[in-house]
Amino acid sequence: MRGLLVGRMQPVHKGHLEVIKRILEEVDEVIIGIGSAQLSHTVKDPFTAGERVLMLTKALTENGIPASKYYIIPIQDVACNSIWVAHVKMLTPSFKRVYSGNSLVQQLFKEGGYQVTIPPLYNRELYSGTEVRRRMLDGKDWKFLVPNSVFEVIKEINGVSRLKQLTIKEVNEIK
Ligand code: NAD
Repeated sequence: MRGLLVGRMQPVHKGHLEVIKRILEEVDEVIIGIGSAQLSHTVKDPFTAGERVLMLTKALTENGIPASKYYIIPIQDVACNSIWVAHVKMLTPSFKRVYSGNSLVQQLFKEGGYQVTIPPLYNRELYSGTEVRRRMLDGKDWKFLVPNSVFEVIKEINGVSRLKQLTIKEVNEIK
């Protein structure tokens, strides 16, 4: 049986990894949708879909999860929520169960007739994309919130300087 998890993963953090490991205890294969794939280079969504695919692939490999257990698929947003489930289905291998902590995602898949599971959150105050990005901007330690390989990818793409530069850009646009 296959399960689906969709997340923006801006960036991939240890909470994502924990939930993926837990899903793989219940299903044979997991489809990981990289949500809002069209977005990048903003303070809320700094990383491209390709960069997020790289982070996730390396984090799963680092944690010993074989490539035969998952499919990583970038999924762009669509303007109408009511057709989003059909859009996701079009892009992914078939799946029976959906895992999500996001209430809109839960609702749309339930209405689409899917079995939806709400996985437990691990240390949500710290393991959250918002917290990682906030710490990057404040110059605080964020390395311990992400798998080592994700830290390396963010270093390779100069992710922290990009985020800081984006903040300057967005402040200037407000003026
Ligand atoms: P996210 O990266 O914040 O989280 C993804 C999932 O990871 C969560 O649902 C949760 O189950 C898990 N998770 C996160 N932190 C965790 C932690 N500390 N411990 C355990 N699990 C944790 O992403 P999101 O905001 O849920 O992503 C939803 C995506 O779906 C977005 O990209 C959104 O745009 C997309 N979407 C699009 C439409 C549309 O296009 N109309 C509609 C609905 C949703």
